[in-house]
Amino acid sequence: MKTMMLDPFTRSFGLLFAIAAAVCISSAKADSTSSAPIAIAIHGGAGTIERANMSDARERQIRTALETAVRAGHEVLRQGDSSLEAVTRAITLLEDEAAFNAGRGSVLTHQGRVEMDASIMTGHDLAAGAVTGVRGLRHPILAARAVLEHSPHVMLSGRGAEAFARARGLEFMPDEWFITEFRRNQLERAQAEPQASRTPPTQRWFSTVGAVALDRDGRLAAATSTGGMTNKRFGRVGDSPIIGAGTYADDRSCAVSATGHGEYFIRHVVAYSICAGSLFKDQSLADSADQVVHQVLVDAGGSGGVIALDPDGRVSMPFNTAGMYRAAIHADGQIDILIYRDED
Ligand code: ASP
Repeated sequence: MKTMMLDPFTRSFGLLFAIAAAVCISSAKADSTSSAPIAIAIHGGAGTIERANMSDARERQIRTALETAVRAGHEVLRQGDSSLEAVTRAITLLEDEAAFNAGRGSVLTHQGRVEMDASIMTGHDLAAGAVTGVRGLRHPILAARAVLEHSPHVMLSGRGAEAFARARGLEFMPDEWFITEFRRNQLERAQAEPQASRTPPTQRWFSTVGAVALDRDGRLAAATSTGGMTNKRFGRVGDSPIIGAGTYADDRSCAVSATGHGEYFIRHVVAYSICAGSLFKDQSLADSADQVVHQVLVDAGGSGGVIALDPDGRVSMPFNTAGMYRAAIHADGQIDILIYRDED
């Protein structure tokens, strides 16, 4: 066997080369099993949610649905898929859950119909899609996402949005499939009340659904889906499909999904204002979200709450109502499934 003799210079150069190669390989490995944080938060609406008016069965149903959706969204992130995919996954599950005011189980309009709104946004490119006043679509969030991914527009409405969704091959269900007994009774009660008030007393809880997520690539996404408000008329549109009011995502600041009395959230551009607080005023996400929800909205008389997530995976979920259905899996893996105020 031939033995190769190397001179001292070649030997030390070879040694340096081997060390450099080892460092490169180990940092490449560190990238592929990245320790970059992932996190997700979801909501199922805010309102007069108190133990006294909640049956055990309803509470169990809500907690199970929240846990299933937040875990499903988190699994998408854990597999290395995008925050867009994660929020889509969580919302489609919540839309199918009749306990929430989105997809099946949506509130009813004055005419006793279901007309739904949804929006979705990605924070790395500020791409957004929304639909409003759509009927029959099993998953309005998929239509919003199709607007984001397959159209040059941001928002499509009514019959046009439905035609677009049909052309994209999205699933439609018969009107009756969406309507629950609970929502029929809620509409009856609302219609029996005097019309005068700007804040109908029957609007005791909202139960719109939303999700925000951060993926391994540091990308944020936000999504919101709703049937709007009980007894709505004249094609009323709330904040949920409005980018900046009910939904916003910007990788430089935060992702937000809101729930509450939409008219106030539109006037105060709630989701964008929270992100703008951390971007332009250098506020922490928690401070910015608290200020908008507990000061700006409270001063204006607007009830509701938000879920918000910053690029480091910090979650903030303030609300100014008695409760908010909410859940999160934090960057350290801790899971929260919360309903009432005193659970924080
Ligand atoms: N924000 C929604 C709307 O005004 C209602 C809700 O959050 O449940 O349409």
